[in-house]
Amino acid sequence: MSISLAQNDPEVNEILKQELQRQQNSLTLIPSENYPSKAVLEVEGSVLIDKYAEGYPGRRHYQGCKFIDEIEELAISRAKKIFKAEHVNVQAHSGTQANIAIYQALLKPGDTILSLNLSHGGHLSHGNRSTLPHTHYRIVNYGVDRESETFNYEEIQAIAENCHPQLIIVGASAYPRAIDYSHWRRIADEVGAYLMADVAHIIGLIVTGLHPDPVPYANVVTTTTHKTLRGPRGGVIICRQNLASRIDRAIFPGTQGGPFMHTIAAKAVCFQEAQRLEFKEYQQQIVSNAKALAKSLREDGLRLVSGGTDTHLILVDLSKKSLTGDKAATILEEAGIVVNKNSIPFDPQPPSITSGIRPGTPALTTRGMREPEMQLIGKWINKILSSPEDRTLRKKMRSWVRELCQQFPIYEDLK
Ligand code: PLP
Repeated sequence: MSISLAQNDPEVNEILKQELQRQQNSLTLIPSENYPSKAVLEVEGSVLIDKYAEGYPGRRHYQGCKFIDEIEELAISRAKKIFKAEHVNVQAHSGTQANIAIYQALLKPGDTILSLNLSHGGHLSHGNRSTLPHTHYRIVNYGVDRESETFNYEEIQAIAENCHPQLIIVGASAYPRAIDYSHWRRIADEVGAYLMADVAHIIGLIVTGLHPDPVPYANVVTTTTHKTLRGPRGGVIICRQNLASRIDRAIFPGTQGGPFMHTIAAKAVCFQEAQRLEFKEYQQQIVSNAKALAKSLREDGLRLVSGGTDTHLILVDLSKKSLTGDKAATILEEAGIVVNKNSIPFDPQPPSITSGIRPGTPALTTRGMREPEMQLIGKWINKILSSPEDRTLRKKMRSWVRELCQQFPIYEDLK
């Protein structure tokens, strides 16, 4: 029982070591990725993983839950404080699980969900054709305005009046601008729909006051805990008291079994971290870094969807460069710069190819990088994308990237 991973399973241990080196020696610009604290990692690998605890604090289906209840209660009370929430459920295993539970709690099969088109920045779990919600509900999509590439509320209201949704989802994976939730509340009220805000990406900015807060406007808010919030992989649901028991039942037993108590403890740790002054400074730096990176990318002639960013991410349109998002992401990775391809609004390319990339700054900001590094990385990205056939440049840049990464270790003492 007590032998180390290296002795017990050298094969897995070796892959783990290589992944740590990959993370250490490359620049992660995927906006949904981050490096949580050592405290979060520690509790994720703790004995809490051993315990079954179906149910909720004080109402478990298993014995031996005294400390488990304490952990979940602590997570809930910290979450209520940072989200200014009447009720929270901290058991969702992921952002997608949180969303599925909302549909289960609020809708009947065949009801209509109005959500953002995937290729305009929406998320798969909002009813994309290939997902479970699509088979149970009628999905209608809105998009962004062709000119401004931001939400056009008159247009969205007209779509809502036409399709009579029971649920409107506002939330995105690739929308670089701030969202004003008061418009969404008004539209939901006009058509008598529930309003759900999915803030998986921007929750860190919200809890530190750097982005408008949906909690006063939405009936339910879902989020992940592993992106800008910098906690463990997982989901959280925030709602008004009147929906609390429906939502709790939709998570367990509706759509999940035993909660991941190690992850719930890690969520509690990240909710505590999110109350510290350093966390607010960190979120401010994420946004300053995103603006600096956007400026650098724009200066060398790249077109940014909506012209720039108010958040942690940027959507780059590569169509004028005759490069696809797929090719761009591949050649950038060869140079040690890790981004993901992403559809842009009205993209002529399919989602597997795309015409865009979606760089974001949470992970590099955690490493301590600031505006000068963003300026430099923006120049490097432009250089690579301007010479897609230049293998030698990519090889040279791989070593420049490694040198920069050495100055900003992700975990100083991890080997
Ligand atoms: N909602 C949004 C807006 C997201 O961007 C994501 C993930 O990228 C999710 C939900 C799903 O989160 P998970 O991967 O934890 O299921």
